[in-house]
Amino acid sequence: KIRPLIAGNWKMNGLSASLSEIALIAEGADAHSQRLDTLICPSATLLVAAGARTAGTSLAIGAQDCSSETHGAYTGDVSAAMVADSGARAVIVGHSERRQGRGETSADVKRKAERAVEAGLQAIICIGETEEEMLKGATQDVLLRQLQGSVPARSKSSSVVIAYEPVWAIGTGRTPSIDNIAGLHAFIRTSLIDLLGEEGRRMRILYGGSVKPDNATEIAGIEDVNGALVGGASLKASDFLAIVKSF
Ligand code: 13P
Repeated sequence: KIRPLIAGNWKMNGLSASLSEIALIAEGADAHSQRLDTLICPSATLLVAAGARTAGTSLAIGAQDCSSETHGAYTGDVSAAMVADSGARAVIVGHSERRQGRGETSADVKRKAERAVEAGLQAIICIGETEEEMLKGATQDVLLRQLQGSVPARSKSSSVVIAYEPVWAIGTGRTPSIDNIAGLHAFIRTSLIDLLGEEGRRMRILYGGSVKPDNATEIAGIEDVNGALVGGASLKASDFLAIVKSF
C-alpha cells in the first residue's frame, strides 16, 4: 500500500497572520501521521516562518515553484537550493497556473524537477488537461505527453510525486466523475510503470481540482489515488483537516 500524501497549495494567498492557520493544521495533522504525510505550500515569503512554526510536528512545508537554473543572474527567481535552505522539504512544479499562465513547457518543468531532486527536495510534478482538450477526447494523449516530457529519467518514488489536476476542475467546484478519476489514475499508473518500471508502480499519484471535505471520502476510496493536492480548501485548517481525515 502506498502511503498517502495530502498537500495544500496556498497559491498567492496568506500573510504572516496566516501562520496561526498553519500551526492549527500541524496540530491536527499529527493525529494522522501514522497513516499519511501532510504538506502545506505557502508563498515563498512564508517558508522560513512556516518551517519554524511547524518544527517538531509531522506537517512538512513546501514551495510552489522553483527555478530551472541552479543559481545566477535570474532576478526575482528562487532556486531549489534556496527552497531547501529555507527548511522546506518539497516543491510543486508545473502547476497549470504556471504552464498556462506563465508559459512553462514540459521541458522547463522537467528541469525544475531535476533541480528540486538534486537539492534534496521532493518534486510534486503537476499534469492535467484543459477543458478544450478534454472535450476533444485528447485527455490521455495530453497526460502521456506531459508525463514523458516533465518526469526526469530514473525518477524515484521517494523523491517524485505526480499530481493529476484537470485544469477545468481547478477552483471551479467541478470534478470529473469518480469513474473518470479512477480511469485516468489507472492510465497514469500504467504510463509511469512504462516510463520508470518498479519506481513507477510505487510513485504517488495525487488528485487535485476542487477537492473539498464533502467529496474527499469518495475520491480517497479510488484505487491509484494516493492523496490530494488541495487549493482553496487548504486555506482553512478545519477544511484541510477534514480532507486529511478522509484518507
Ligand atoms: P482548488 O482545490 O482550489 O480547485 O485548486 C486545486 C489546485 O490547483 C491545487 O494545486
